[in-house]
Amino acid sequence: MSEISLLPEVRAFLARDHGHFIDGQYIGGTSGLTTPIVNPATGETIAIVAAADAAQIDAAVNAARRAFTGSWAATLPYQRGAILNRFADLIEAHGEELAQLETLCSGKSIHLSRMFEVGQSAIFLRYYAGWATKINGETMSPSFPSLMGEQYAAFTRREPVGVVAGIVPWNFSVMIGVWKIAAALTTGCTLVLKPSEFTPLTLLRLAELAIEAGVPAGVLNIVNGQGNVGSQLVDHPRVAKVTFTGSVPTGLKVGQQAMAANLTRVTLELGGKNAAALLPDFDLQGAVAGLIQTGYVHQGQVCAAPERVYVPRARLDEVLETFSGVLRGAPIGSPLDESVQFGPLANKPQFDKVLGFFEKAWAESRIVCGGKALDRPGYFVEPTVVVANGAADSLLHEETFGPIICFLPYDDVDELPALMNDSPFGLTASIWTNDLSRAMRLIPQIEAGTLYVNMHTFLDPSVPFGGIKASGIGREFGSAFIDDYTELKSVMIRY
Ligand code: NDP
Repeated sequence: MSEISLLPEVRAFLARDHGHFIDGQYIGGTSGLTTPIVNPATGETIAIVAAADAAQIDAAVNAARRAFTGSWAATLPYQRGAILNRFADLIEAHGEELAQLETLCSGKSIHLSRMFEVGQSAIFLRYYAGWATKINGETMSPSFPSLMGEQYAAFTRREPVGVVAGIVPWNFSVMIGVWKIAAALTTGCTLVLKPSEFTPLTLLRLAELAIEAGVPAGVLNIVNGQGNVGSQLVDHPRVAKVTFTGSVPTGLKVGQQAMAANLTRVTLELGGKNAAALLPDFDLQGAVAGLIQTGYVHQGQVCAAPERVYVPRARLDEVLETFSGVLRGAPIGSPLDESVQFGPLANKPQFDKVLGFFEKAWAESRIVCGGKALDRPGYFVEPTVVVANGAADSLLHEETFGPIICFLPYDDVDELPALMNDSPFGLTASIWTNDLSRAMRLIPQIEAGTLYVNMHTFLDPSVPFGGIKASGIGREFGSAFIDDYTELKSVMIRY
């Protein structure tokens, strides 16, 4: 096992003085509060990033507002699309540099960084670029009676909401950041992004590439920090919309605060406790491979990942045996080692949180495999399989956001809707079966924003994504995002 070599440009970037990206300028942080960026695979500090002060936050929002009414408003829709496509080209051209940077900050395996943070980011950007020329209103035929020969016409326009504040999490900071950038820019909005304090670096580099792609200064700004930067953005009177991805408690605060600030629009994507149900005819190898691939990818730190699995009682043992057999053999190690499957958790608070769930599982549930931290520097834990001690087991209800899948046997398929819906969340769910009739009958009964059959977690730019219940408000992707980034203006004409 050996690590890939870091590119010289990655080393050079890490050595820079990091802070923010405001009005087209990279701004270092020479004074004030700073945050150390820790490589979760080693526990070592790899860079220092300055926190934005109130004046810098204000400058970023004002730059975004100027660009909204100025340079970005002056671009034609096809030009916006062309710029986003060039941005995608540059992300790919700098793919290895971006992937390495993100792996160093997040602990994500280099394969995942290449595939998702780089590859998927480019794919999503190109999809959104195509929308730039297709955001239109409708024409209506009013029925007003004509008293003196006059006539009436009406149409609607889709107008960009304005400056968007995007609060980006640490699990897929580049890809989720790009989702927010692409949706805002293609609709004609401008943006201030606030990355997670754990993973700010790659987005800063991305902002430079955006300028190189032709995004005018001020259209995309980035402010960093920890503690109250996000909150100041939400409160800012010139922010027209907030898009937040993260935890339920913080999402609730963001939503309430935005409403109180200015009736500011909000979209929230808040994670889940996603259920998977194996129906009696399920294919063992296919289901186990699919659930392992999606349940433990990036150590389970994926909002859409399956965390609880319902299995026919008679087949629980064979499922657990196959599952744990695969996991016990999976190589764990440095995410910069291309032969490794499992890297570290992304940061210390997440590591502590997962250790807390292990403790709970040892005390209250049955651990089939895993359940321990690795005795090495960094935040490594074993991929873990747990059997719940009943439907009320907290591991079936609390989002772990870690490499823990909790199983519960069931006796009758009719129990599944109640079991699967027994959660405050409703982001994703899956059913594993080739029984079409059963699948079609279950689909309307499951409370989830996305329901998968014989798969889980896959996100495609053409398919709307978002949660119901405590998993959030609003939809990304497809055409659904347009509603959230535009105002609908009605125009009526008498002639
Ligand atoms: P949080 O949900 O607490 O989000 C932290 C981010 O929110 C920071 O950027 C912070 O910025 C900002 N923030 C906090 N308060 C406000 C506010 N009032 N207004 C605006 N922004 C605010 O995430 P954590 O990183 O603490 O992760 C905690 C848990 O969240 C994880 O364990 C996991 O369960 C879940 N999670 C879910 C994700 C998902 O994809 N849905 C992704 C990542 C985590 P500032 O410090 O400047 O206030």
